[in-house]
Amino acid sequence: MQNYGTKNLPLKNNAMECVICKNGTTRKGKVTVTLERGGSVTVIKEVPAQVCQNCGEYYLDAEMTEEVLKRAEHAVSKGVEFEVINMDKVA
Ligand SMILES: [Zn+2]
Repeated sequence: MQNYGTKNLPLKNNAMECVICKNGTTRKGKVTVTLERGGSVTVIKEVPAQVCQNCGEYYLDAEMTEEVLKRAEHAVSKGVEFEVINMDKVA
């Protein structure tokens, strides 16, 4: 499981060279994003992303980044300690 961080740059849906391992290329896939904010943990499953075929690092595009942050903020505002969201079911 990986934590969402600033290293996940907003990107387009095209395959690209991985900036983390510089040795792999990305492919479209689904990832699980875990966000921790003010005591709330939000796990978002089935998030469309570009995934490095070499090291497994993932990259979300700008739209999806905004979406997962919005959902995490919502969980925090509700005071939920732990929430699991499946993007396949809410999209
Ligand atoms: Zn990589």
